Amino acid sequence: MKPLLDINRLNIDYQSNKKEFNIIKDINIQIDEKMKYGIVGESGSGKSLTSLAILNLLPDALKVDQGHIKLNTDSTKDLITLSKKEMRKIRGNDIAMIFQEPMTALDPVYTIEYQLLEVLKIHKNYSKKEMHQKGLDMLNKVGISRSEQIMKAYPHELSGGMRQRVMIAMALICEPKLLIADEPTTALDVTIQAQILDLMNDLSESHHTAILMITHDLGVILETCERVAVMYAGQIVEESTVENIFEEAAHPYTKGLLSSIQSLGERSNELYSIPGNVPTPDNYQELGCRFATRCPFAMDKCYEQEPPMFEVQDDHASKCWLHVEEAQDDERRTSRAG
Ligand code: SF4
Ligand code: MG
Repeated sequence: MKPLLDINRLNIDYQSNKKEFNIIKDINIQIDEKMKYGIVGESGSGKSLTSLAILNLLPDALKVDQGHIKLNTDSTKDLITLSKKEMRKIRGNDIAMIFQEPMTALDPVYTIEYQLLEVLKIHKNYSKKEMHQKGLDMLNKVGISRSEQIMKAYPHELSGGMRQRVMIAMALICEPKLLIADEPTTALDVTIQAQILDLMNDLSESHHTAILMITHDLGVILETCERVAVMYAGQIVEESTVENIFEEAAHPYTKGLLSSIQSLGERSNELYSIPGNVPTPDNYQELGCRFATRCPFAMDKCYEQEPPMFEVQDDHASKCWLHVEEAQDDERRTSRAG
């Protein structure tokens, strides 16, 4: 069966008259129907750009240089090649998105009702009365009780958690096949965060919606996703099931991210973080591994040759030269035992 979304060898470049450099390199992601898939990485890793590419909303200076993004619903469409008009039919209807800061995504001058029903007006053919009822039902589903009253309210009259519930209602009202959620709970406090993640989980199950969760927080991935791609400096460095990543992380960068959430869980005062910062795209290692400047295990080879994705176990890939060394060690051990 074809995956719902198939991102294949996606490359994105920055192009201006003065400069050209690569930003996103060789991204491969397959999301099946109803699957919950996570992309995790620090800010600057390229995860949000990947989601903007899916929606055909990249800023002007960024160009898809190679690859395709196929959406398999009733027919197969390559989202990269669609016209603006064709893309508008897909956005909100087949693919919806929720953002980190609902205050900036909601328009302050329109009521919740107006904004909630706007996507329905574009994509569906309902009477006024039907639309109003759909709006009320959707608000109830996202746990908003005084829905008649909230429909008449303006965004500034609601709390951050309520606004995020409204955003989820707006995103799901057309029953999309795929929901892209970019840091959907980052701006919220911890208890509200947990409620919103639970709500997204429940709704994706009852509406059969696949989720692409984009976050810097591996804890959020653990709560919500089945599979995860770890991104660093515009590339996927590790990809597998959430279980494999948490139990047997293979890439040094993933291990670094994991120790930062583990130290959070232990409530230690010293929060571990990976030393250094994600390089900016114009400073990516031309050759070798893009993580080399921050990696505690970097060898000469890491600065000279880019590691490929190695299959470290069934259904688990990691982009690091250490796996060659490990394989050789295993071989030596086996031949000694033999
Ligand atoms: Fe570190 Fe080298 Fe592996 Fe890159 S390839 S993560 S620098 S050990
Ligand atoms: Mg981002």
